Amino acid sequence: MNWRERLLTVAERVTGLLGLYNLFFAFIALAPSHLFTDYFQGLEENEAVRQIFGDRTGEILGGLKIHFIRAAGYMGVNPLNGHLVVNPSYLVNGDELDIYLDIVHELVHVRQQMEGKPLFEGGYSYVERPTEVEAYRHAVEEAKKMGLSSERICSYLKTEWMSIDDLQKLARTLGVECP
Ligand SMILES: [Zn+2]
Repeated sequence: MNWRERLLTVAERVTGLLGLYNLFFAFIALAPSHLFTDYFQGLEENEAVRQIFGDRTGEILGGLKIHFIRAAGYMGVNPLNGHLVVNPSYLVNGDELDIYLDIVHELVHVRQQMEGKPLFEGGYSYVERPTEVEAYRHAVEEAKKMGLSSERICSYLKTEWMSIDDLQKLARTLGVECP
């Protein structure tokens, strides 16, 4: 870990505790950025991605920046600049299918950010926030099109910060049967 990553880890802990998300996102915007298309290829022709950006898919993916942040959970979108934030160890160790569905999910957030929608709107729980529901809905539709079982989709939806009740609520919203 270099000094910058160390600083970002500390910054995330402190700002997370204080709820100062903007400060955290301002910090991580300082990290070196890379081109999305250097890491994820072939998505310009992907139907699920084209449904998000339409005719501007190639242009938007071509301009999309990505920051690798070890302190990031899995991946997300920086609401301040619309850049993708990815934990590099998730890319290396994560399940390929989960990563693909996460990319589909996060690209919906990229479009929402471009439209000026608040990605972290208060007053909602995580599983009820309209921007999250839209992103999950798109990823789950893609998972269904790929023929994934309900069980596999549920295991995709389940994250360690989500309670069983929240998972069931999200699954119901998305029309997925979770055991
Ligand atoms: Zn999301």
